[in-house]
Amino acid sequence: MSLDERYRILFEPLKIGPVTAPNRFYQVPHCNGMGYRDVSGMVALRAIKAEGGWGTVCTEQVEIHYTSEITPFIELRIWDDRDVPVLARITSAVHEYGSLAGIELAYNGINGPNFYSREVPLGPSDLPTLTFTNDPVQARAMTKSDIADLRRWHRKAALRAKSAGFDIIYVYGAHGFGAPQHFISRRFNHRTDEYGGSLKNRARLLVELIEDTKEAVGDTCAVACRIGVDELIGKEGIHREEMLELFSEIGDLPDLWDLTLCNWEYDSRTSRFGEEGHEEPFVNGFKQLTKKPVVGVGRFTSPDTMVYQIRRGILDLIGAARPSIADPFLPKKIFEDRIDDIRECIGCNICVSGDMTMSPIRCTQNPTMGEEWRRRWHPEKIKSKGPSKNVLIVGGGPAGMECARALGQRGYHVTLAEKNKELGGRVSQESQLPGLAEWNRVRDYRMWQIRQMDNVETFLASEVTADDILEYSSEHVVLATGSKWRRDGVSRYHLFPQTFPENLIFTPDDIYEDNVPSGHVVLYDDDHFYLGGVLAEHCKKKGCEVTLVTPAAVVSSWTVHTLEQEIIQENLLNTGIKIMPHHFVRPGKKKFPEVVHIYTGESTVLTCDALVLVTARIPNASLESELEKVRNSWDEAGIKSVTRIGDANAPSTIAAAVYSGHRYARELDEELDPDIVPFNRELTQIAPEPDWKTFWE
Ligand code: ADP
Ligand code: SF4
Repeated sequence: MSLDERYRILFEPLKIGPVTAPNRFYQVPHCNGMGYRDVSGMVALRAIKAEGGWGTVCTEQVEIHYTSEITPFIELRIWDDRDVPVLARITSAVHEYGSLAGIELAYNGINGPNFYSREVPLGPSDLPTLTFTNDPVQARAMTKSDIADLRRWHRKAALRAKSAGFDIIYVYGAHGFGAPQHFISRRFNHRTDEYGGSLKNRARLLVELIEDTKEAVGDTCAVACRIGVDELIGKEGIHREEMLELFSEIGDLPDLWDLTLCNWEYDSRTSRFGEEGHEEPFVNGFKQLTKKPVVGVGRFTSPDTMVYQIRRGILDLIGAARPSIADPFLPKKIFEDRIDDIRECIGCNICVSGDMTMSPIRCTQNPTMGEEWRRRWHPEKIKSKGPSKNVLIVGGGPAGMECARALGQRGYHVTLAEKNKELGGRVSQESQLPGLAEWNRVRDYRMWQIRQMDNVETFLASEVTADDILEYSSEHVVLATGSKWRRDGVSRYHLFPQTFPENLIFTPDDIYEDNVPSGHVVLYDDDHFYLGGVLAEHCKKKGCEVTLVTPAAVVSSWTVHTLEQEIIQENLLNTGIKIMPHHFVRPGKKKFPEVVHIYTGESTVLTCDALVLVTARIPNASLESELEKVRNSWDEAGIKSVTRIGDANAPSTIAAAVYSGHRYARELDEELDPDIVPFNRELTQIAPEPDWKTFWE
């Protein structure tokens, strides 16, 4: 298949200063939770992107100096020459596929508490550090001599980056990170010297860093500037108008502009709160003020939208972090006219949660993400089948579908049976809820792939029993039957079942079946991820009065890791949902439940028409028990194994269900020793042992 001419423009090379990007697919810098700790894994991830056709592949933010590090988060470092070999691994892997390698040099200043180095953070003003965890640490206002130090450190880091082989070297001031952003923002810059006050003064550090970097490495390397153009708080913060003014002054200074919104949560908006191309209103107009190329993001997965961005003069290069995570081969698929094979990002930010929880990146759509080196999983290639011939998968949710897809790709004969009239399981259900429509892509991508495979048969409206399984005689049986939400309140707060009046109780499963309550709804969220908040919004939209009760301090507390928590809370409050944090629900003495303050024990009866319990789930494991009862018939039926996967094994995220299905498919017919760590891991090289008796002398 060959390139559709409409998309040719995406494959045109573009000069960026002294280097040339082979095409317009630009993997912007993004964190991955691996950084300096899981080096080979991080390198493999970048290599895969280059193999998949991203013409430019950048690192995550790379800390330039030990006086600014963001422990506990795990990024790369370029503190001294000893960091160069790690970074050189990235460039050599990326160059292997003909792509450019970019490095995002970062000095986070006021944004890092320096818990590792114990240095006093340096910022534009004497202010508390700007961390997610409100650390009890203040930054010290930088003196002129500190600024001179910073400029020298940045220059040295740029020279090291050049020696590591990078083609594009960044000056970074975006996402709330990067000292130049803190200096530009009035909120954080209270200085009265030539680095404070007027826009020109506040942007002085940015200008100096770009000039220093160009002077140091600009002969052979392109110097990019990643800059936040709006803090979305009006004139008190960085805003579009003042950044346009700045651009009209310094528009041609760097070789490339990488435009973002100032705060990471707005830049990496989930699909619940921002659609493809959501940044256009903010980045539009900057390109007209510079002769240099402009890159920007917007969760672009549609080649038509990409072309549209270029043709209308919004962007020159299509920036992507998440679309390149969900499908590292997106550019190649466009080039080969395989658009339907693109595994489109669903905008759920599970990938971001890797960085936020300091664990290796994972992705809902792409189960191989982060496993390229650890498990040698390639996103497009998979080993051919082993000796087994056929597999019956019961349940066509994300786990069952991914299992069928990957087993089919390996060449097994697969039967996928689903009791509902459509595939998708919880994805089909949840994507009906407010803001979650894009999640259907988990189902749609897999459905399309499975349809192309002659060796995968799908049966819908087919509820499978143990007798059916015995009769069907498949060598391997996979139970991907999902889970059910509990009706007894057991979750994190209550560990013993509670007896709530049955007529009041609703669970998410009831609501999926369009059994939406009416009147005053009390929604008890002891799950803490997105669903409680989404269902509260859903009930409100259906006309209910909603009170959301949670033992946590804030609603949907785990969504802090997907960068959504504050947006969710604001949204719920603005739609008139009453929130009762720090409370749990228990059965009342009469017909209504009581809400109890978790610290004071003060209780109130909440009169309501419904109690929606978003608590914990029970795996649907009854088929396994039924099969156990007839175990002596397995041989005769030719059954060699019965395995639960996904939520049927242990309820978790959709990402975990997809991963579980994929893993089963990868491991079928493999000999695995449960006593051996099944993935590659990298151990820190230990320093030579000192003579302890004299060590502290
Ligand atoms: P997961 O996230 O693990 O994929 P889901 O709950 O999304 O779990 O999907 C499980 C799917 O299994 C649902 O679509 C459900 O209808 C289906 N299912 C459950 N029990 C059976 C059964 N006995 N026969 C066929 N399909 C079943
Ligand atoms: Fe997209 Fe979700 Fe994958 Fe991140 S985890 S790349 S948001 S699908």
